[in-house]
Amino acid sequence: MGLTRKQMLGVMGAAAAAPLVSGAGGPRVIRRDVCVLGGGSAGTYAAVRLRELGRSVAVVEARDRLGGHTETYHDPATGGTIDIGVVVLEDEPVVRDHFGRFGVELVRLTGGGEGGTTAYVDFRTGRPVGYTPPAPVALPAYYEQISRYGPIDTVIDLPDPVPAELVAPFADFVAAHDLGSIVRLVFDYGQGIGDLLRLPAFYAINLFGQGVAGKILGGGFVTTAAHDNSLLYERATEHLGGDALLGSRAVRVERSRSGVRVLVAGPDGARVIEAGKLLVTIPPLVRNLGALDLDGTERSVLGRFEPGAYYTGVVRLSGLPAGVGLANAAAETPYHLPPLPGLYMVGPSAVPGLYNVKYGSPSPLPDAVVRREIRAGIERVAAAGTYPVRFEGFATYAGHTPFELHVRPRDLAGGFYRRLGALQGHNRTYWSGAAWHSHNSARIWIGLEKLLPSIAAG
Ligand SMILES: Cc1cc2nc3c(=O)[nH]c(=O)nc-3n(C[C@H](O)[C@H](O)[C@H](O)COP(=O)(O)OP(=O)(O)OC[C@H]3O[C@@H](n4cnc5c(N)ncnc54)[C@H](O)[C@@H]3O)c2cc1C
Repeated sequence: MGLTRKQMLGVMGAAAAAPLVSGAGGPRVIRRDVCVLGGGSAGTYAAVRLRELGRSVAVVEARDRLGGHTETYHDPATGGTIDIGVVVLEDEPVVRDHFGRFGVELVRLTGGGEGGTTAYVDFRTGRPVGYTPPAPVALPAYYEQISRYGPIDTVIDLPDPVPAELVAPFADFVAAHDLGSIVRLVFDYGQGIGDLLRLPAFYAINLFGQGVAGKILGGGFVTTAAHDNSLLYERATEHLGGDALLGSRAVRVERSRSGVRVLVAGPDGARVIEAGKLLVTIPPLVRNLGALDLDGTERSVLGRFEPGAYYTGVVRLSGLPAGVGLANAAAETPYHLPPLPGLYMVGPSAVPGLYNVKYGSPSPLPDAVVRREIRAGIERVAAAGTYPVRFEGFATYAGHTPFELHVRPRDLAGGFYRRLGALQGHNRTYWSGAAWHSHNSARIWIGLEKLLPSIAAG
């Protein structure tokens, strides 16, 4: 259980004002090789692997659980589970190893989902849209085109100068290579990316990269047999024991030639972590990094990031035929993609009457607005006479902002990701997480494997 907001502010205020010294009467000191900020996909994986590599760690996680974007709803009435964050993972050795070390059983997905039907509706009007997504016949051609740039969904190492077609809108990339048949597939997989067609092609390729496209073409995906991806993080929490500081935040971070000192406010009061290195896995927006003593270089690079927004939840509905899900589409737009902000889909879950909803926006919105819009979109479907669906409330709701950090085309062309990559190791600090690899846990873990030797080095 974490601190209440009031308690946390009290500890943070007192701790931030105090000099960052340890010793008698001061906050308890924890000495570790690496201090990891953020215990989601990247932070948890890194902590577990660093321990395997013989390094001691402490993970500072703001929430009272590890897992970040991996979240599972437990239905109290049926005991059923619904993964509302991370659902599928690429079938990669790194994924099987990670779940395997915690004894969490995986099953392969066949691609047929729950075997239901998708009806395309325009949630702005509630009316059906006469649309059937084309077979993605251009996927092999897409894979070939993006492979010219290597695994930029794993480690973002772009050619210098950055090719103009990666900076230009994804719509131009699609048109130039005749890839129209895959646009809906990329849109559906790339939920949360924002305005897919207008964003620089790099961002579409980073999210729907060699890893994902290759798995659709042949490799496959996995999920947990229990349909509860959070099991991985529950077991990792047990494994890390006292090394996982939950409900805790870094209040001040000082980095010097001799090491890193992190003042942490948590449920047990203030602590100082003295570490050789820092690994930051929280979304690297400057406003999230207020505790860090960022220097001018770090500030000028990280200050270019802008966030997108992605929201998810479980709603109770009645009146939809069994197995029918609703996907958003528009009659008048290129490739029938729905304008955002808007619902992506309302999909049936394994629990009758409960539906997973996904909503996206190019920039963050208040949660109250998103919740209202999700409900209104569903109610318009009934009002239009498309389906007699009744909205009966949210079983759960989660905002996942900031999501899909991106920079403007000018910064991308100007070598932003070269400068970002150059921050690795600067000021004894390493960086990982979706903004450094891709919004894809398998790609994050593969990317981290490349980084771990430097972090673990003495
Ligand atoms: C709805 C949804 C569905 C997704 N589906 C999939 C999927 O099916 N497959 C897939 O591979 N990927 C999926 N993703 C992408 C997902 O983002 C990545 O797989 C991965 O979880 C990103 O890991 P991360 O470590 O960068 O971020 P996170 O997992 O979010 O971890 C960041 C952690 O930092 C913590 N934190 C933030 N600020 C602070 C602070 N100041 N101090 C301490 N801690 C802090 C957060 O609480 C969080 O635990 C999905 C994402 C969402 C939102």
